[in-house]
Amino acid sequence: MKILIVGAGIAGLSTARALALKGLECDVIERRQEPPTEGAGIFLLGNASRALGDLGLLDETRSLAYPIATQRILSSSGAVLNHVRTDDVWKNCGPCLALSRQSLVDVLQKSLDPGAVRYGLEVTSIASRADRRIVRFSDGREEKYDLVIGAAGVNSLLRNMAFGADEAREVGISCWRLVVPNNGEIVGWTAMLGKGRTLLGIPISKSETYIYADCGTDEFGDGSLATLKRLFCDFRGPLGAVVAALDPETRIHRAKLQEVPAKRWIKDGLILIGDAGHASSPSMAQGAGMAIEDAIVLAEMLSRPGQIEEALQRFHDARIERIAWVQKKSQDRDKLRNSSRALRNAVLRLFGNALYRKTYAPLTRALLPPSSGSRTSEAER
Ligand SMILES: Cc1cc2nc3c(=O)[nH]c(=O)nc-3n(C[C@H](O)[C@H](O)[C@H](O)COP(=O)(O)OP(=O)(O)OC[C@H]3O[C@@H](n4cnc5c(N)ncnc54)[C@H](O)[C@@H]3O)c2cc1C
Repeated sequence: MKILIVGAGIAGLSTARALALKGLECDVIERRQEPPTEGAGIFLLGNASRALGDLGLLDETRSLAYPIATQRILSSSGAVLNHVRTDDVWKNCGPCLALSRQSLVDVLQKSLDPGAVRYGLEVTSIASRADRRIVRFSDGREEKYDLVIGAAGVNSLLRNMAFGADEAREVGISCWRLVVPNNGEIVGWTAMLGKGRTLLGIPISKSETYIYADCGTDEFGDGSLATLKRLFCDFRGPLGAVVAALDPETRIHRAKLQEVPAKRWIKDGLILIGDAGHASSPSMAQGAGMAIEDAIVLAEMLSRPGQIEEALQRFHDARIERIAWVQKKSQDRDKLRNSSRALRNAVLRLFGNALYRKTYAPLTRALLPPSSGSRTSEAER
């Protein structure tokens, strides 16, 4: 079976690794000229680390990550609205970890053979002839594949090429992401909620803390440092102080949050995975987890006897409910954190822990029934 993966982000690299573990080869192409050399942080909940374990990469990831034992939500004035111990939900699934995005991509990249990813290459057209995909690349070459896996992120051109529509839509929230020195004052995952604004801090190592801030896109304007400081000037506590003290040299990543509706993104030997097929706002911190899970389930289905189209259908059937759940819950969380202060604070104080458990417990379940070949976590055995 000749397979092409388009995009060497978290989904594409994980899929290449998962296929290799099943003895399946693939070509991987990436539009960037070289692997990324910087990025902000990423938070991985227990299902994401379990999936990294399935790829044989949990120990290495853990050695580069900061363990997150608690998730706290505070009001902008610093009052505690909710405090969860991550173990209460994730203990039997996997550890909750925070690390630099760069470190995660490095772990995935290094798990592949050197030269496995061809950088600086894009797909310029794709056509179906008989049961093969004829792919033309930006260097003028043309090759035939049995399967093309689109893992090119939320703004995937492949989605437009194959499905004729760009279904990425803005969710009306824009964000800043940056890394600051860890001064020891932000313990665990700590979010502060203001009116239509969220500020989050997560230690990603002993020396660094990842900061995420968001607001309505209408308020974001040019996303300058001055805007960031102005919008969060009334936030108290360690997070407010961090924003107030930011210096103009700090490297800041800016983004408008987008989502892609989860549906059957399969056509003529082409499938979309990761953000290309189901990007969500990051409020569930599940984008990477869903991308790595996609990789494991897709490789498992492709390794079974049968036609490719059957494998893709089995993949869709195994994934759609879980992905739709994450998307729905991300939307619900965005709605709640941007609802009236009184309602939001009361809900979080009274039902915060129950909501956390209800939202995440379904994701602790096994990816596939045990008989179907997926690894079961140590604790489940
Ligand atoms: C602000 C923000 C915060 C987030 N925080 C978290 C978090 O804490 N935890 C979490 O789990 N998730 C988080 N996510 C989500 C997570 O980052 C994504 O779900 C994840 O990166 C998706 O991986 P991907 O490989 O599908 O896409 P991407 O990471 O976007 O990778 C796509 C790759 O394809 C390449 N590419 C694009 N077009 C082409 C082309 N035409 N040809 C070849 N290559 C191409 C790109 O260069 C890129 O390398 C966050 C997202 C955002 C926006």
